[in-house]
Amino acid sequence: MDPKHIAELRLLLGEPSRVILNPQIVEQLSRDFYWYSPVLRRQLDGKLGEVVVQPLGADEVQKILRYCYANDIPVTPRGAGTGNYGQAVPLQGGVVLDLARMERIEKIQGDGVAVCQPGVRLGELENEARKVGWELRCYPSTIIKASVGGFLGGGSGGIGTVAHGNLRDFQTVRAIEVVTMEPEPRVVLHEGEAVHEILHAWGTNGIITRIWLALTPAVEWSQCIVAFGTFGAAFDFSEKIAVEPRWVKRLVTVFEWPIPSFFTPILQHAPQGHTLIFFMIASTQLAELEAAARDAGGMVTHSGVYPGLNARPLLSDYTWNHTTLWAMRADEAYTYLQCGFNPDTVRDQIRQLRERFGQEILFHMEFMKGGDGRVFPGAIPVVYYTTEERLNEMIDFCREIGVWVANPHVNNVEGGGRYRPDNVQLLAKLRYDPKGLLNPGKMVTFRSESETAGANTK
Ligand code: FAD
Repeated sequence: MDPKHIAELRLLLGEPSRVILNPQIVEQLSRDFYWYSPVLRRQLDGKLGEVVVQPLGADEVQKILRYCYANDIPVTPRGAGTGNYGQAVPLQGGVVLDLARMERIEKIQGDGVAVCQPGVRLGELENEARKVGWELRCYPSTIIKASVGGFLGGGSGGIGTVAHGNLRDFQTVRAIEVVTMEPEPRVVLHEGEAVHEILHAWGTNGIITRIWLALTPAVEWSQCIVAFGTFGAAFDFSEKIAVEPRWVKRLVTVFEWPIPSFFTPILQHAPQGHTLIFFMIASTQLAELEAAARDAGGMVTHSGVYPGLNARPLLSDYTWNHTTLWAMRADEAYTYLQCGFNPDTVRDQIRQLRERFGQEILFHMEFMKGGDGRVFPGAIPVVYYTTEERLNEMIDFCREIGVWVANPHVNNVEGGGRYRPDNVQLLAKLRYDPKGLLNPGKMVTFRSESETAGANTK
């Protein structure tokens, strides 16, 4: 980037230390967890921004975007960089807009809606909310590090989804304020249904500067691990707890053997050859859950009151996409898929996958509530990677037998499986980022005004 731009950005912020050129920091803040995918590793290794800029408020975001618009400089927003599809990796250099310093929780309203800046860490919000009787409805297993803005921009759900659905569901995100990438960047409020124009758009159509997030009344939770001799028995029991509304739960996760053998810090809770279920359950129901598990043939290998994110072990650290991380530590050939099974035919779907791919797919199930209120078995199966062709064969086969797949091995919003068929994210981009400077290359159906004009004159 022209040194003139660096000097001018420094002048704009009036605090040169928030415009960072140090190559190690620029490299570190240009990366996320894309290396989870052997396919993305090949595509994204070595992609870097040119400068990191750290705004403190929406007014500074406006100033930066005005400058970058005028000078055709790409801007890639970044929360904590824990996304795992390369969402925050800049493809065309330019500014990495690091929002980590916009980290103020403004208030937790009496009606249980938190109002905060995007850089607030989810763990911090959870801790603050619990002090006043609320907690997050759902959160990723990266809760301690991940930011609220990054969760809205690139995440979907996690712990709590079994009870409250994903971020998109049940009006969990009440409103989002974004700054647009126009000659005169505007601060625009998206409320109600309009939040879907911004959610999971990977920062391609506006910079989120303020969030209204609905919470849920806090519960005293306990953690519990149950081991079963067979995957079938474990799945039956986990499904029962997940589906029956009377159980107050935050997490129902099933790992078939040998996945538990990857969890090296907690092997004492993982009897050889057994399938494990991890629960977060209301403490008032813990004894009843344990009794039900024993009646079903299970063995309780760990249980206790959950003191919060400092729990040891912290079971969520092994669930959702953390499971893949443990598998990769055991053997770096492991990678993953993200699936939704049909609750009526899930056993048959699992059987067909096992018959076709054997131990190349290991079942890690996560129960989730869908937007229609029905709890269904989702999964982040651990996959033994050999070639991209074989991976695509698995994805195709899943889709053939009715298993929904959000492909985590693509680096664009549309290909990932959470793109809205009504194109509202693209329509917002056309309005808010006409030059296509926000996280360029990640929304592949977008054509900038100049590209469209060029095509029209040919
Ligand atoms: P980043 O990675 O920094 O950004 C994510 C996307 O949002 C990027 O496209 C970025 O450009 C954009 N963005 C960031 N801030 C803004 C902003 N202010 N305005 C506009 N766009 C912005 N995800 C889940 O949903 N559930 C899980 O359970 C889960 N588990 C994970 C486990 C592991 C081990 C890992 C590595 C990842 C996991 N993820 C999960 C993915 C990721 O951790 C979460 O989605 C997380 O919420 C992302 O937050 P972040 O602050 O790190 O975002």
